[in-house]
Amino acid sequence: MGALRDFVADLLDSEGAVIEPVEPDGLDVLAPDQVRAAMGWPELARLGFGAQLPAGAMPIALEGDWLDRFGALVGERGRFAERQLVLPAPVAPPADPERRLNGVLDLRNAIWRLRDVRPMVTRCLLLVFRYTATSDERREGLIWLGFNTGTGTFLEDDMVDRLRHVLANNMEWQAPDLDARAQAGPISDASILAERTRARLDHLVRRDLEPFLRAMRRRLDRDCGRVYEYHADLRRSALTTRSSLRYATGEKAEADRKRESMRVATIEREYAAKLDDLRHNYALRVKVDWVQGLVLFAHVHRYEILIRRRKGERIVAIDWHPAIRMMEPPLCDWGLGLERARLVCDDHLHLTDLAGQAPCPSCGKAWCRACQGSACPRCKRMTPPRQKSNLPVKEHA
Ligand SMILES: [Zn+2]
Ligand SMILES: [Zn+2]
Repeated sequence: MGALRDFVADLLDSEGAVIEPVEPDGLDVLAPDQVRAAMGWPELARLGFGAQLPAGAMPIALEGDWLDRFGALVGERGRFAERQLVLPAPVAPPADPERRLNGVLDLRNAIWRLRDVRPMVTRCLLLVFRYTATSDERREGLIWLGFNTGTGTFLEDDMVDRLRHVLANNMEWQAPDLDARAQAGPISDASILAERTRARLDHLVRRDLEPFLRAMRRRLDRDCGRVYEYHADLRRSALTTRSSLRYATGEKAEADRKRESMRVATIEREYAAKLDDLRHNYALRVKVDWVQGLVLFAHVHRYEILIRRRKGERIVAIDWHPAIRMMEPPLCDWGLGLERARLVCDDHLHLTDLAGQAPCPSCGKAWCRACQGSACPRCKRMTPPRQKSNLPVKEHA
């Protein structure tokens, strides 16, 4: 539980408390008024974080409402920060940039040429979102997104993981200097960024939730099966009784037949109601909230690539990140860009997923979705969703 103790010690220290470690795994805290009020502590509190508590200590753990109380103390602070990534020693750029670029660039209908390379500072956004999925059970998770505003590309998941690792380990926090800000330039179009962030976030949340949803569907199938078996048995026995009365005559037989028919109807109604209950119980709600954002000013080697398609030319930038020794993928003007392959459009040389230039399933016309949107310009039919998914619809906060 060392991490929790360190967090609490840092937080209380920043709130003006006087803290003193006590063994085993505890803290003595002399807290100012506002901390005492927020946490409900006496002036001198002894906190214990381990399985073994120091004498007279209050146990603090991830369970209970402690995290909520610490969260209230932190408030909105730390939601957004700017930081410069400064490497302890310079890292030489790749000796074979063309080969490295070949590894990330797969243009199916265009050629490219490396035009220029220069070291510079770029601005990356690292955003954290929390999702909460609730059905009969509950699942929470964090999603990290990385976006390079200098090149307009999303960083792959393992690039984001590695950057976080670098930042978390032995690196002094440094505020961005004026020179870095000037080199990183203005932030790119916020509305495009918001739209693309939404699409990518959607994909990542669905991907994260897939095992949870699979397990949920198994439980739902099992429960539906049980409800069916139970009611099918009841119904069968009511039907058998009714058919045994088929040839009987007289008032009593008539009343018995009526009773059994009503029983069958009741069982069928109950079955439908039980299925409705299950549907309600297993209905999925997903909520996604933005938690934290870091603007990271990072040194990169920027490769300027000239792309040629028919008579058109376009220059795009691809950065190599020395901190993690990785080349980022090329931007993607339409689609999630999860695959390496890109198609280039004739009119504006947009780089898109293969689906971004695909022919219309109805009339066969091919068009660029980045230029003309998702509806076919000839027959107006909409392109089906980009990702194959039959998961339930979710909501964003
Ligand atoms: Zn286009
Ligand atoms: Zn069409």
